[in-house]
Amino acid sequence: MKAFRFVSVLFVAGILAACALFGGNPLLEEWDTPFGVPPFDEIRDRHYLPALRTAMAEHKAEIEAIVNDPEPATFENTILALERSGALLTRVSSVFNAVESAHSNDAIREVARIVAPERAAHSDDITLNLDLFERVKAVYDRREELDLDPEQLKLLEETHKDFVRSGINLPEESRARLREINAELAELSQEFGQNLLAETNDFEIHTTNEADLGDLPANLVAAAAEEAIRRGNDGGWAFTLQRPSINPFLQYSPNRELRRQIFMGYALRGDNDNEADNKENLVRQAALRAERAALMGYETHADYVLSENMAETPERVYEFLDQIWEPALRVARSERAALQEMMQADGIDDELRGWDWRYYAEKVRKARYDLDEEILRPYFQVDAVRDGVFMIATRLFGLTFTELPDLPRWHPDQQVFEVKEADGSHIGILYMDFFMRESKSGGAWMNALRSQSRLDGEVTPIVTNNFNFPPPTGDTPSLISFIDAQTLAHEFGHALHGLFSDVTYESLSGTRVPRDFVEFPSQVMENWMSEPEVLKMYARHYQTGEPIPDELIARMEAAGKFDQGFATVEYMAASYLDMAWHTLDEPAEHDADAFEEEEMDRIGLIEEIIPRYRSTYFAHIFSGGYSSGYYSYIWAEVLDADAFQAFKETSLFDRETAARLRQEVLSRGGTRPGMELYMAFRGRTPSIDALLAKRGLIPGN
Ligand SMILES: [Zn+2]
Repeated sequence: MKAFRFVSVLFVAGILAACALFGGNPLLEEWDTPFGVPPFDEIRDRHYLPALRTAMAEHKAEIEAIVNDPEPATFENTILALERSGALLTRVSSVFNAVESAHSNDAIREVARIVAPERAAHSDDITLNLDLFERVKAVYDRREELDLDPEQLKLLEETHKDFVRSGINLPEESRARLREINAELAELSQEFGQNLLAETNDFEIHTTNEADLGDLPANLVAAAAEEAIRRGNDGGWAFTLQRPSINPFLQYSPNRELRRQIFMGYALRGDNDNEADNKENLVRQAALRAERAALMGYETHADYVLSENMAETPERVYEFLDQIWEPALRVARSERAALQEMMQADGIDDELRGWDWRYYAEKVRKARYDLDEEILRPYFQVDAVRDGVFMIATRLFGLTFTELPDLPRWHPDQQVFEVKEADGSHIGILYMDFFMRESKSGGAWMNALRSQSRLDGEVTPIVTNNFNFPPPTGDTPSLISFIDAQTLAHEFGHALHGLFSDVTYESLSGTRVPRDFVEFPSQVMENWMSEPEVLKMYARHYQTGEPIPDELIARMEAAGKFDQGFATVEYMAASYLDMAWHTLDEPAEHDADAFEEEEMDRIGLIEEIIPRYRSTYFAHIFSGGYSSGYYSYIWAEVLDADAFQAFKETSLFDRETAARLRQEVLSRGGTRPGMELYMAFRGRTPSIDALLAKRGLIPGN
């Protein structure tokens, strides 16, 4: 009881300190906002650190109470008590994590840097607590006698596994070393992300020569002009390493030297031997992960991670990747030949290089299919695409979406919606944050501000979708590419997975599923976006309101598989790279660049393509949760391509198939293994054929 009282005093002192210093902390108070959304309008940067620390202290006190319970351990007083513990920390962390990714600043980054090791230590304090584990194990060992329902049993197994996978069964010395490793990894991961953001923001290409813009679409020209002013230039146009800026520049600028500069600027992020260099950082992370895996009794970090995934072992991941690699590489080589020819025809007598690929791909696309992004863009106005995605959800699942303009939000650009069933009952809240800005991390993602559960009354989900689309300029709305439209559908799929969750326990709800399963619900939604019938509904010219013409759809379809060799190869090269860093069987110092080059040589990557992420800016694996998991996207594509066939076999909006998808997969969270969920939906295991056909990669062709 001593420890318990000590912690309680700390906890109270923490609250008092927070109140005295800051006059109340909205993160720690009850939220009497509509639907209980976070009061973003009241939360200030200074509230995060004290709130996180207070919440950790409260969680610690709750854990001590479980440990010190004089009653023998039961499912109720141990497993459910653990499930209930840390509610405040989850609430505060969810807000902090979301804001840190989507709308950060120096103060927030500083908090993130300070709390990363504290959070790692806090987590270790729980999962390496022997007294606590003793109680969990006591319940686990009697699991057969407890008459638990399947979800209760799953919760018990997962809880037990959390401890085992954290190293609770190891000798004390190893556990102490584990804590050091976890703390160091937490710091390194923070630092990696912050270096990357700095390297991305620091770079610009500035030109005052209009000829350098080539056929760049008017709205992107306007955006580049605004960017130039914003960066303190006197005029002209500025391009940055954000994908919506660099990619169009690489596609359209005829200035080969500027293309080279921006391409290299992108490719060398974190690899400039300056203070934001990530090489030592990532090599250290790989070494620490290898050491941790060895301590845990696994051959490599990948073995450790994958034992929890559908793929199960590195061998199965490699076997899977290898099936796709050769056909993809073959297609990419033939694409390269076509681009080289186009470059020669353009009067440039030189080898095709990485910075030429997108430019000549665009030209070949135009020559072959009379299609470029400029023709398509006016049909993909961001709000119209959003409405299209909503409409798909309405036709499949009967959902409705009501905008809530008055709800607090972290940035004025955010849109907030109430999501309801066909009968009008409430499902949850969806925040959408579309536009790129410097305060936002790159890419697109979903996260939950509140997860669904019903352990103590129904808790409805609050989820967010985040993108880096070009913002509106002047009187032109945000016009996105067709790929962006698919990204919107993708993140919305993750959102649905969170919103449809229908489970008892928060720790099994929504997207808390294995990494190589979580991309299935998101990717399956992308499939609808390219169907002609669906394009007709949502792709409307932003000025005339005309639906996209049939002949343009026909050209899109004809060009659909174009450049898929490139897309598949650059993605897969990054997947192999991820696996290479995480199948090291001993902690060792490597030269990051040499290591990467060796692996790329091994797989035979062609020089004109670089991995979608090089090691020094591979945030998924060095500052996110995807280490040994980047293969997941294409793994899950086997599932989504096969699942979409179920709709093609019936009808695109078949309500019965949709209901089965919701019932058997989207509502189940992590209550059952992924393959079981899939089989319950499809009645059989997935076949890889649909994926290969979709990407135009039939082996032998
Ligand atoms: Zn995703």
